[in-house]
Amino acid sequence: MRAVRLYAGPEVRVEDVPEPTLGAGEIRVAVQAAGVCGTDLHAAHGRLPVATLPVTMGHEGAGIVDAVGAGVGDFAVGDRVLLLPSETCGACPVCAAGHLGLCPGARIFGMARDGTFAEKIVVPASCALPLPAGIPFAHGAILADAVATAYHAVATRAAVAGGERIAVIGCGGVGYHAILLARLLGARTIVAVDASPGALRRAAAAGADATVDAAADDARKAIRRAAGGDGPELVIEYAGRKASVELAIAAVARGGRVIVGGVGMESPTLGPLVSFVGREIAVLGSMGYTRAELARVVDLTASGALDLGASITARYALERAPAALADLAERCGDPVRLALLPGGDPDAGGMP
Ligand SMILES: [Zn+2]
Ligand SMILES: [Zn+2]
Repeated sequence: MRAVRLYAGPEVRVEDVPEPTLGAGEIRVAVQAAGVCGTDLHAAHGRLPVATLPVTMGHEGAGIVDAVGAGVGDFAVGDRVLLLPSETCGACPVCAAGHLGLCPGARIFGMARDGTFAEKIVVPASCALPLPAGIPFAHGAILADAVATAYHAVATRAAVAGGERIAVIGCGGVGYHAILLARLLGARTIVAVDASPGALRRAAAAGADATVDAAADDARKAIRRAAGGDGPELVIEYAGRKASVELAIAAVARGGRVIVGGVGMESPTLGPLVSFVGREIAVLGSMGYTRAELARVVDLTASGALDLGASITARYALERAPAALADLAERCGDPVRLALLPGGDPDAGGMP
């Protein structure tokens, strides 16, 4: 079968590999769609250490079960499934609490074990969820990353209850979905902040009321003015940069909260304590999501309440994975999410 493999160097090759064999408790899935995200790009460019090389890339995927290992009762051949991005230990306190993003023993697909950029993948059955028939595979592929991650930030960490003034800094994949979800959960005003005019156009289409150029000299004032009142009560950060976290802290209203979901290696500063403490600002990290939150976004998508119709901004055959990675690196076309389609385009072709 064909697979997109990451070698030391780093080097990405699309090549033939043996079909994976499955053991007890595992299922094999014919991948129909795989999301391409910034993490894949970091790995392909050598910015993230990858323990096992070579490895089949990709941690976002959805497809059709084509073989079931001994002892698996939850799935049968032909079932539509979406896949979790990593295998967790299942035994530590955060796993016991159902949180899928904090397990210290997590093994992410596409890095610690073979991933979704292939015609087939073998996963533990616990890493798959049923994908309702009405949800296209390409949307299923991103639910367990860009969508559920945004839901955890907006609904749980920020506890958006409605009627609030919100700013979202960094409106690419996860930030875009944070805007969709904040709108759905009843935000009063949403200000989208990004340095890319194209990303701001997409953010406006997703429901942002106002847009602000993150690179402008007066971005802080512009965010406060656009939010109205005393400024945004909540700022959600998905750029993962020192400057954007500091902008979030500077722009948030007195008594407000900042949710930082962007991941990076830079070190932002809080500023003078007299201001940070005196304005009583809360800064919270947000990582991953729980099984219950993932089930919630699947339900919201299946019911049509959450519209992912504009979330996949480009589709590629598996062979063109290197082009997809290059387009993402250059933010070509201001991508929200890119999808590889190892099985052709099942959603367009009317397959189950
Ligand atoms: Zn991802
Ligand atoms: Zn664990």
